[in-house]
Amino acid sequence: MSTIRLSKSCVGEEEKAALVRVIYAGYLGMGQEVQLFENELKAYLDTDAEVICVNSGTAALHLALSCLDIGPGDEVLVPSITYVASFQAISATGAKPVACDVTCDRVFIDLADAKRRITNRTRAIMPVHYASDSQSMPDVYEFAKHNNLRVIEDAAHGFGCTRAGKRIGYVGDIVCFSFDGIKNITSGEGGVVTTSDKELARRIKDARLLGVESDTEKRFKGERSWNFNIKHQGFRYHMSNLMAAIGREQLKKIETFAEHRKASVSRYMEKLKSVKSLAFLSLDYSNIVSHIFVVRILDGRREELIAELKGNNIECGIHYMPNHLLDYFLVTYALPVADKLGSELLSLPLHADLSIEDQDKVIATILNFFNSKF
Ligand SMILES: *Cc1c(COP(=O)(O)O)cnc(C)c1O
Repeated sequence: MSTIRLSKSCVGEEEKAALVRVIYAGYLGMGQEVQLFENELKAYLDTDAEVICVNSGTAALHLALSCLDIGPGDEVLVPSITYVASFQAISATGAKPVACDVTCDRVFIDLADAKRRITNRTRAIMPVHYASDSQSMPDVYEFAKHNNLRVIEDAAHGFGCTRAGKRIGYVGDIVCFSFDGIKNITSGEGGVVTTSDKELARRIKDARLLGVESDTEKRFKGERSWNFNIKHQGFRYHMSNLMAAIGREQLKKIETFAEHRKASVSRYMEKLKSVKSLAFLSLDYSNIVSHIFVVRILDGRREELIAELKGNNIECGIHYMPNHLLDYFLVTYALPVADKLGSELLSLPLHADLSIEDQDKVIATILNFFNSKF
C-alpha cells in the first residue's frame, strides 16, 4: 500500500524535455531562460511591476528586506504562524522579527495585536498569505500607510490566486512568491520578487548577483561584467536557466493545477462538513488556489488523528508551529490565538496529482475516526 503524500512536486515529460534542452545549450546559469521566465510571469500577472526571479522564496524575502536597508536595530511585524522562512529572512538582515498574533478564522496577521507591537523601530510589516488567502490585505495597506511602514507580502502560498479580479502580485509594495518543489508551481527551488518601486527593483536585481551593477542585463545578453562597481551588500541569489526552464513549463500548467486543487478542496469541504470536531477556515475559497488545505481539530484529539492517518499510510502536516515558541524567536508576551491554533491546525493531503480514490481514503479515515467515538 503506497503512502498518500501530503504534498509533492507535480512534474513530467515537459519539464524533463526543457531541462534537456538547457543542458544541451550548455548555459546552465542565469541567462536568457530566466529573462523569458520573468517576461512570462509579468504577462501572467498582467502587471507593470518589476518581476525578479531568485533561487528561493526565502531569498526573495531576504532581498526585499535587505534592499530596503532594513537591518540591525529595526523591527518587522510578522504573524507568529508562518513558515520559519519568514522569521529567518528578517533575522538574517540583523532586524528583529516581532511575532504578532493571528486571527482565529483565517490565521492572518491580527492587526489589532500588530498595533500593540509597534515601536519607533518598526520599519515594515510582513503579512503572510496563509493557506493562499489574502482578503485582508487592503487593511494591511491601510495600517501600513497610517504607521509609515513598508509592506513585504509573503505570498509563498499565493501564486495563481486572485483578489478583486486581479492576480496576486499585480499590485502591492513588495510581493514575494516561492517556487519550491511543492508550491502551486515549482522551478525546482526558486522564488520571485515583484515590486512597482523601480529604484528598489534596481537594487534587488543587482543584489541577487552579488551587488554587481547591471549584471542582470549583461547576463541576459550572454555577457559578463569584468569591470564593475559595488555600492551595496549583495548575495548569490539569482535563478539559473535550469530552474527557469522548469518554471516556464509549470507556468503553462497553472490552470490545470489550479482546477485540480480547487476541486480537491471543494470535495474535502463537502464531505467533511458534518464533522463537529473539525472546523474549516473562513477563506476566500472561490478566488484562491489552495497551496495547503488546513482544518482545525477542535476536540483536542489532533495528535490521535495524526497517528490514525499515519497508520493508514496517509501523511498530514502542521502549518505551522507558532514561531514565537521557538528558542531563537522566543518572546516574553502571550499570543493566545496562535498558541491555541498551534495545537489545532492540521493540513490534509493536497497536490495536483492527488487522485479521487486517495482523497476518498483520507476522507473515510477521518469520518471513521470521529464517528467511532460515539
Ligand atoms: C515556502 C515558504 C517560504 C519560503 O520559500 P522557499 O522557496 O522554500 O524558500 C516562505 N514563506 C512561506 C509561508 C512558505 O510557505
